[in-house]
Amino acid sequence: MNKLALYDTMSGKKEPFHPRNPPLVSMFVCGPTVQSELHLGHARTYIFFDALARYLRHLGYDVYYLMNITDIDERISQAAARTGEDPLEYSHRMVSSMMRDLESLNIHTVSRFEPVSAHVDEAIRQVNALLEKGFAYKADGWVYFDTARFKRWGRLSHQSKNDLSLRPLELSPRKRNLNDFALWRPEILVDGLWPSPWGVGSPGWHIQDTAVTIPILGPQYDIHGGAYELVYPHHEAEIAEAESVTGARPLVRHWVHTNLVKSDGLKMSKSLGNVVTVRDTLRTFSASEIRLASLSIHYRKEADLSGLASARRRLHGMRTIAKRFAGRAASVEPSLTPFERALNDDFDTPKALAWAEGALKSASKEADRDRAAAVAVPAIEGMKILGVDLFEGA
Ligand SMILES: [Zn+2]
Repeated sequence: MNKLALYDTMSGKKEPFHPRNPPLVSMFVCGPTVQSELHLGHARTYIFFDALARYLRHLGYDVYYLMNITDIDERISQAAARTGEDPLEYSHRMVSSMMRDLESLNIHTVSRFEPVSAHVDEAIRQVNALLEKGFAYKADGWVYFDTARFKRWGRLSHQSKNDLSLRPLELSPRKRNLNDFALWRPEILVDGLWPSPWGVGSPGWHIQDTAVTIPILGPQYDIHGGAYELVYPHHEAEIAEAESVTGARPLVRHWVHTNLVKSDGLKMSKSLGNVVTVRDTLRTFSASEIRLASLSIHYRKEADLSGLASARRRLHGMRTIAKRFAGRAASVEPSLTPFERALNDDFDTPKALAWAEGALKSASKEADRDRAAAVAVPAIEGMKILGVDLFEGA
């Protein structure tokens, strides 16, 4: 069908894209924890996976794109306590705000959003299975995953036993190993409380994802995406849980991770006070400008906010030329070869965009209208595949 290759975090190299059951592609991307509004780091990740899903559909794949929404987390309770809201009411408000932001960013490819609070029964079932199979143990109302029992622990993040020993998770005297992580947490920390065989509490963060994916996508699926910072321990833990519960491996064929967006030269974080929200950015920049800025840097490289101003200039230039070909779009069969070649090579959007921009510039210099249209129309079509409509606002 194509020669698409994507960099796989697990193998550490570009791998030919081979979904399990073509033309079906099952893709899961970690959605946000709805403790606050979406920021530009989220926007970059979700714009990237939206563009990837659009491109896969353009290639003829039937993409089923699942995103979870983490609405169980003590940070949500803390945020709700600050605003004086009920945690559930607070997370509902944040989910609506997130949906509005995704809609504003022209992200329409997600087939299904799943709040993890709707999958607690499944999380309990999985924790039980892990206990029965000896991959988990109970300690004072907590249940932990025993990482010593899982041989492939550390493989996704390429860490040796020594590396891992330097990165303990959740320090606690209850744990058998430093890297063990909580599958079930007792009520002391929690916002939503559920009864379980181990007492009242809530599922740990990592099992919340497998509780959503296993019933919907099955024990194995094609693409797991998310921000790079989720590789360890979050995605490492998902592999350990899912493969231990189902016995099927690998959990995922292609692990795809986006790099971060820096603000003032630093990673955006609430504690540094340098978070730029999607909502605030949309007051100054259009969705297309934000999309173009996000896709102008390769997804595996760090980005910063300086791309927004240049995206505005580039988009304006491209739209000015595209306008002349508005009526021609349907009359020419577009040849997208260089565009597809760029995207097939680990989704090199900067290269694909540069080609589209270059094609429009040469079209603007071409005197013959038909020849000019034959050059411009594929560029316009290519931009549309990436979710940037050059006729919008023209
Ligand atoms: Zn996740």
